[in-house]
Amino acid sequence: MWDVENLLYSTFKEENIPIFSEASKEKGAHAVLEWAYAQYGDQLLYACSFGVEGSVLLHLLSQVKPDAKVLFLDTGLHFKETYETIEKTKERYPLLRIEKKLPSLTVEEQSAQHGPELWKSNPDYCCQMRKVKPLEEELQKVDAWLSGLRREQSSTRQNVQFVNKDDRFQLIKICPLIHWTWDDIWAHVRKHDLPYNSLHDFDYPSIGCEPCTKAVTTNSRDGRWQGQGKLECGLHLAPKNKEEA
Ligand code: SF4
Repeated sequence: MWDVENLLYSTFKEENIPIFSEASKEKGAHAVLEWAYAQYGDQLLYACSFGVEGSVLLHLLSQVKPDAKVLFLDTGLHFKETYETIEKTKERYPLLRIEKKLPSLTVEEQSAQHGPELWKSNPDYCCQMRKVKPLEEELQKVDAWLSGLRREQSSTRQNVQFVNKDDRFQLIKICPLIHWTWDDIWAHVRKHDLPYNSLHDFDYPSIGCEPCTKAVTTNSRDGRWQGQGKLECGLHLAPKNKEEA
């Protein structure tokens, strides 16, 4: 059992975080998950987008916390392949508590109130309403959340740590896969025959909402919000101002 005092947003101190070795087979991920669930239990929520990093993290989770709480932000604009991946995941891990969180407005209501295809005219606002706010509502109920971020994914993710003080949502964010490469991810998926989003086989390395995701031939997030000058939906950025926090 881990001998650590509570590590909450309000009491966060760097020195309270255990040292995790990235030299293990899972590059520290297993040890981080064991520590995180011993520390937070059901106060830890995994926000999963059901991309390939999710396939790996769900597999590791199933070994550490088979009935973990998993949240999918259902914007109503995902590919049908993503919804199929969720169903395949439920079959593989029947104990996981996977829940979908909907935005307050349907896509039709959003179009009526804010104009059609808001993702083209104001993608930040669209993400705010359909992803950030719904996640914020759920994170207010827990002490920590789990994410499959990898440092290799983009310039905005290069400094992510295993355990992070998340100022946007004012809680602890745990990222077990920070040291995994794209090749590591796929080797693990193949070795364990894990369910994954079939769009990955068709040049979609990163998969979000259908209107904002294009096929690309690079292993990165280049296919997200093409031509919009946007790299993140906002879940992993510090708040720009108080109102947004
Ligand atoms: S990814 Fe695109 S469609 Fe989805 S919430 Fe963000 S802007 Fe809207």
